[in-house]
Amino acid sequence: MARKVLVLGEVRDQALRNVSFEAIAAGKVVSEGGEVVAVLVGEGVASLSSELIQYGADRVVAVENTKLNTYTPDGYSQAVLAVIQEEKPEGIVFGHTALGKDLSPKIAAKLNSGLISDATAIEVAGENVVFTRPIYSGKAFEKKIVTDGIIFATIRPNNIAPLEKDEERSGETTVLSVDIKDLRSIVKEVVRKASEGVDLSEAKVVIAGGRGVKSEAGFEPLKELAAVLGGAVGASRGACDAEYCDYSLQIGQTGKVVTPDLYIACGISGAIQHLAGMSNSKVIVAINKDPEANIFKVADYGIVGDLFEVVPLLTEEFKKLNV
Ligand code: FAD
Repeated sequence: MARKVLVLGEVRDQALRNVSFEAIAAGKVVSEGGEVVAVLVGEGVASLSSELIQYGADRVVAVENTKLNTYTPDGYSQAVLAVIQEEKPEGIVFGHTALGKDLSPKIAAKLNSGLISDATAIEVAGENVVFTRPIYSGKAFEKKIVTDGIIFATIRPNNIAPLEKDEERSGETTVLSVDIKDLRSIVKEVVRKASEGVDLSEAKVVIAGGRGVKSEAGFEPLKELAAVLGGAVGASRGACDAEYCDYSLQIGQTGKVVTPDLYIACGISGAIQHLAGMSNSKVIVAINKDPEANIFKVADYGIVGDLFEVVPLLTEEFKKLNV
């Protein structure tokens, strides 16, 4: 059954986040040959619409308003609900990002719809659109369908491949004027923590350090390896608690969930709460002095050794390969 599907384009620093393109690919599956309409919310965002179309959106609706220049649940929900009212979609897909996790339940409640969150795969089986999502901290997967009403889902970044970019593709962009009122909170200023390089939750390569790095300076070899591989640096809670790095790098049950193509765990024991945030990575490499460390149970490749010897050697070798 062909359906109209709305997908949310996420913008950061005036650029589209990759998860927006993944949401379009997911939206295509849910639409079963119907229309995929991308929504942009913000100030001066309509100019980004052509990239959404090149990645497969059929049309773009942009809600532009100065009150939307930073994310607030109040403002964004008014904007997205206005588009939903106008477009009447039968499916909705957001990224399972900090923004998507905050906004989607609010919209679902307003629509009185269900919500399948954190889907890692979507397929059409017979009459149903079937969503796969991890449960029990990633130890098992469940498959879910929506039996009634709007099919509303959020997708985990880095799991559903975007469609190939087609620069020849064209489509219409409309700007919808929405009167945004009664914001209960106004963001006066955004103070960013200094973070270098690639966004951790979208990175294809993550080099993570644990208590084994022993100090803030111990992260330096990991940063060098990450720079050579174009990856991001992450951490265990052990490393964050020991003040070797900022909590924004924490991966795990109470930190970020990452699913990169390559995850290199350095000096991380592999506690269940850490595995909850990274065990679905495509290839896991563990470097640990202790051959009995739990991390080796989930690793595809294990290196028993001192990370301060192994990591610089890897950096050297990858440099030679010019990756
Ligand atoms: P450790 O367990 O101390 O392991 C350090 C490892 O480094 C050891 O295996 C050691 O052999 C190795 N090592 C030491 N020196 C070297 C060296 N030179 N070279 C190589 N290897 C070396 N943890 C998370 O990570 N994320 C979470 O989100 C999270 N949420 C939690 C939520 C709750 C409710 C609770 C109770 C705990 C949570 N934890 C979380 C904490 C978790 O249980 C562990 O305590 C933590 O993951 C341990 O961090 P670690 O592996 O860095 O440290």
